[in-house]
Amino acid sequence: QAKSQGKNQFSFYTEKMKINTHNLIKAEEDLSQALQEHEFELYFQPQFNLKTNHVLGAEALIRWNHPEKGLIFPDEFIPLAETTGQIVELGYWVLENSIQYLASRKQEGRPDILLHINLSSKQLSDPHFVTLVQDLLAQYHVPATSLGFEVTETSILEDVTLARSLLQTFKDMGICIAIDDFGTGYSSLSQLKNLPVDLVKIDRSFVMDLEKDPDDREIVEAIIAMAHKLNIKVLAEGIETREQWTMLAAFECDLGQGFYVSKAVIAEEFNQGQPIVHQDESLP
Ligand code: C2E
Ligand code: MG
Ligand code: MG
Ligand code: MG
Repeated sequence: QAKSQGKNQFSFYTEKMKINTHNLIKAEEDLSQALQEHEFELYFQPQFNLKTNHVLGAEALIRWNHPEKGLIFPDEFIPLAETTGQIVELGYWVLENSIQYLASRKQEGRPDILLHINLSSKQLSDPHFVTLVQDLLAQYHVPATSLGFEVTETSILEDVTLARSLLQTFKDMGICIAIDDFGTGYSSLSQLKNLPVDLVKIDRSFVMDLEKDPDDREIVEAIIAMAHKLNIKVLAEGIETREQWTMLAAFECDLGQGFYVSKAVIAEEFNQGQPIVHQDESLP
């Protein structure tokens, strides 16, 4: 199992390689083989309540344990899988494995968590998707309230009408609906009121310079205020410093995740994590 987690230096699928038909076919074969050979693995990045410091759940993030290239991060193969359509199969793998993980936690008597997974727009437009989700939850005896879906503004905007009714169906089942990378797309805060959303995830790009950039501070405060008026919770992603954490908590941001507390880790490591992140004296 790949343990090292530094972003890999080589970028053999996306940057150096021009996407042409030949390469695409090769990449498609590699991805199918990787699925067959079980080379994918889920990592879990804790998500915290910024007021109580409790871990309330995690985001499941996929990695590829490549036999020769080592650990490959999703930015290098998710866009490709979207191009080839294999994201539907890969997304199913993520869904099933996440639900399996939730079932195993239940069996081991571990505390309940809310596990968020990332959905791509191709999955949203798959007509079987709702049934797939319902069947898997039933099969593993996992309550829908343990599951969260992260979708980006961009993927919703591909077909707003479809997305709205689908997300409503999932929300009615009890699944937490989160808008990922909020602020980077073309949607506006006002569009939120027309969507069945439980959680908005403020993109890392607004959190990164929070200490230095008064504009980012204004934007973040505005997102939090507006979301709260609409009864939507807010999570800040990419928190890397104590200062950012403190500022976000002061802004009444509900939840957070980021390297300051933890990167994404393998299941065994996540299972050993503390239910409370830190006491004030022992901040990392
Ligand atoms: P995302 O959903 O916005 O996930 C957050 C990304 O930010 C993750 O990168 C995470 O490791 C990284 N991150 C978290 N905290 C920090 C921090 O404090 N600083 C910095 N610099 N980065 C931080 P990762 O795992 O490489 O994933 C990248 C993207 O790939 C994800 O962005 C998501 O869009 C996509 N992705 C990952 N897993 C899946 C999946 O199972 N299905 C789909 N469709 N997409 C996935
Ligand atoms: Mg996400
Ligand atoms: Mg995100
Ligand atoms: Mg992001």
